[in-house]
Amino acid sequence: MSGPGALPVGGLVPLSTVDWPDRLAAVVFLRGCPWACGYCHNPDLRQAARPGQAGPGWDQLLKLLALRQGLLDGVVFSGGEPTAHAALGDALAEVRALGFGTALHTGGAYPEALAGLLARGLVDWVGFDVKGPFGDYARITGREDAGARARRSLESLVRSGVPFELRTTVDPRLLDEGCLQRMAGELRADGASTGGHPLVLQRCNAAQPGLPALPGLDLPALAARLASAFSGPVLARA
Ligand code: SF4
Repeated sequence: MSGPGALPVGGLVPLSTVDWPDRLAAVVFLRGCPWACGYCHNPDLRQAARPGQAGPGWDQLLKLLALRQGLLDGVVFSGGEPTAHAALGDALAEVRALGFGTALHTGGAYPEALAGLLARGLVDWVGFDVKGPFGDYARITGREDAGARARRSLESLVRSGVPFELRTTVDPRLLDEGCLQRMAGELRADGASTGGHPLVLQRCNAAQPGLPALPGLDLPALAARLASAFSGPVLARA
């Protein structure tokens, strides 16, 4: 099978108010991610689909969209890492043709794929996951080339003019405040804070088996301390 029907849909949320700021959106979770962050919020979705594994399927999204004309603003493609899939461009185009907006959640693991989607004008908004300073990506994701790939993706996103939000999961077992200050400075140097794109700090899901308990963290205070290095809005998300 080719085209959007080939996408490994691992989950479908019919209505979300939080995955695309100020929009009502359905969220499609695609399986597969080349990285291995210790705090991964969707470890099941990191794995490619197993043969015979049941999933909601592309048809289910199309049925949902037919019922939600005028009620939903758009569709968010999340993961896993959605840009891993060659059929994503056709899926975005099909959603657009049905009259819905399109958004992506990505960490930038596939810079050429992301640049291609942006150049084709298929994406209305991007939630860009920043793991830490680019030099620390190998430690956080377990992949040597992850930082260089993420940086190239961010550069093409900044160049594209597509609205975006930067989001960082703050796991104090992996990122201390010095790391976060360096990260904020790198993002500013790469032009990511120009234009008012926010950097959003997200609380780490502490309920990960095998990881020690998280120390307490005052996320709003941390956000306030990073604002100067970022030179733009830094927000805390519960
Ligand atoms: S990039 Fe996202 S989906 Fe992939 S391992 Fe990291 S947290 Fe999980």
